[in-house]
Amino acid sequence: MLTYHAINVIKNTYEENDHLALAADLETIKELGLRIIPLARVVDWHDGLLTDEEVARSVAITFDDGAWFDFYDLDHPTCGMQRSMFNILRDFNDQSGQTMQAHATSFVISSPDARTSLDKTGLIGKGWWGDQWWLEAASSGILDVECHSWDHVHPELERVAQQDQLKGDFSQVKHFADAEIQFKQAGDYIAGVLADNSPTLFAYPYGAVSDYIVNEYLPENQSGHGYRAAFTTDPRAISKTDNRWLLPRFVFGRDWKSSQGLQAILNRI
Ligand SMILES: [Zn+2]
Repeated sequence: MLTYHAINVIKNTYEENDHLALAADLETIKELGLRIIPLARVVDWHDGLLTDEEVARSVAITFDDGAWFDFYDLDHPTCGMQRSMFNILRDFNDQSGQTMQAHATSFVISSPDARTSLDKTGLIGKGWWGDQWWLEAASSGILDVECHSWDHVHPELERVAQQDQLKGDFSQVKHFADAEIQFKQAGDYIAGVLADNSPTLFAYPYGAVSDYIVNEYLPENQSGHGYRAAFTTDPRAISKTDNRWLLPRFVFGRDWKSSQGLQAILNRI
């Protein structure tokens, strides 16, 4: 599983632009003869619903945070027009035809207030963190929308759903009341936007999670929150014996910084 952050646009180079990296990486995956499968299919395999052969030599792609850069082409203030992650997938699919189809999953921050606030502090205050695109993406067949918490316990927010207002570390979410907001309320909001399709996958902000969430809250409240698996940023390939609440992902920029770096990771799967 590979992770990108579409708001990482610093220069128009592979290393400092997650859009250019994704476009190049799709070609690398294709050249290596690997397949791209939806993240949900990986979880199906982990659940024993698909055979090893059905997912052999496959990659799943994920995007974190859910700003507009995931879906809309945008004119970046210093780097110019940026093709959205969604359109990069579409371009690739148009070129590849039936031979190969790319798919990805966007893990979005759920709270409208948190996104409005982060748009002002983290982006340039143009309203580029709205949820207008979620339903169209989820209906497209190539970009699923799943949950990345209610508010990311983001340090730029005035208040977060963590009882002691400890920010910037999702492993501090370790009480039932906070968890109900970060997981259940977040999922309920996304379901409302997605015409009642509740998210079933969760990516922990910063890849961090508490023992309480992994060992108690998620396994014991599944009928309430509705999730079937959750993802960290532990940099390794998934194995069948992994805890469903601690599935690993590689992150662009941290775990690979070049096409060669990605090849080195993919050659091991
Ligand atoms: Zn994030």
